[in-house]
Amino acid sequence: MTDRIREFLARNRPEGPCLVLDLDVVRANYQAFAKALPDTRVFYAVKANPEPEILKVLAELGSCFDCASRTEIELVLAAGATPDRISFGNTIKRESDIARAYELGVRLFAIDCEAEVEKVARAAPGARVFCRILCDCEGADWPLSRKFGCDAQMAVSVLEQAQRLGLVPHGVSFHVGSQQNNPDAWNGALATSAWIFRTLGERGIHLKMVNLGGGFPAHRLQKVPERSAYGLAIFQALRRHFGNRIPETIIEPGRGMVADAGIIKSEVLLISRKSAEDEVRWVYLDIGKFGGLIETMDEAIRYRITTERDSDATAPVVLAGPTCDSVDVLYERNPYLLPVSLEIGDEVLIEATGAYTASYSSVGFNGFPPLRSFVI
Ligand SMILES: *Cc1c(COP(=O)(O)O)cnc(C)c1O
Repeated sequence: MTDRIREFLARNRPEGPCLVLDLDVVRANYQAFAKALPDTRVFYAVKANPEPEILKVLAELGSCFDCASRTEIELVLAAGATPDRISFGNTIKRESDIARAYELGVRLFAIDCEAEVEKVARAAPGARVFCRILCDCEGADWPLSRKFGCDAQMAVSVLEQAQRLGLVPHGVSFHVGSQQNNPDAWNGALATSAWIFRTLGERGIHLKMVNLGGGFPAHRLQKVPERSAYGLAIFQALRRHFGNRIPETIIEPGRGMVADAGIIKSEVLLISRKSAEDEVRWVYLDIGKFGGLIETMDEAIRYRITTERDSDATAPVVLAGPTCDSVDVLYERNPYLLPVSLEIGDEVLIEATGAYTASYSSVGFNGFPPLRSFVI
């Protein structure tokens, strides 16, 4: 919680749940990435939070952008970034969207199979492509495992095919899983990337770039290693596998850039028990899975939650959202400890929620509006 957010909430007392984002934290995070990985370009993963003010601040700082759709590309251009600073990083693209991106000047595309290479070759002739490889995501709280990427052998043939179809095979990408707690998680995928570089090099195709993806964590209930530890572990892995021919690298932080810039303010709507002898209270908030907290699915992401009564004695609670859907329970298997004195109407702050909340909230399930954002 920053002083600016605290003052904003005290001054404005907004009704209903809302996300408040502090742009100073986004600026500091960008600088921290630039410092931890000085030779690496930053492509902000727009899906984490596409607020125009965030995109504008990052564009001014010189950031590049990882976009997953035509709409995200248009948002980034509107924020003032030039198309040479945009990567169309989704491996699953509509061909007309590839063509539109190309028309707008985007020349860098992700692929992970032959059919996608064919689309890019038709709709974006001559563009640079990088092939996403599979990654096991061990150590990540929010894995992005099987859906994207192909194995190393296939990456080689997909990049060769790209060359045959007139594209420029530019590099390899992977994602070690979001909220990755282990700075050494990049090592295995970098070993595989180096193998792909060597194998293609022997066939006359010289790749230039490794896209290290996202995965940089935000602080949650448990502390996570510092950003500098990630920078060092990644640099050492690059040295280990590429020797003194380290390629150009980029990172695509989403969560690590914006999560801790945001706080969700919510309110207790109801506190109840399921039977007279029940020890565990059910605490219902005015925000739940559909209002922006979908990453509590399987209790994967455990946010830090604070109240004004945190100095009082605590007891376990089940935390749930306000909608009439029984999946809208945030934490039950591993109950949270909240103050015994908690009352209906109390304010509850959910920390480090600047990423994957507003952008995930439903348009109006059950009549609850999408999460409101204030950018300060
Ligand atoms: C979502 C995504 C990211 C951002 O990941 P974080 O773990 O939030 O940093 C980066 N790259 C790609 C391709 C993504 O899909």
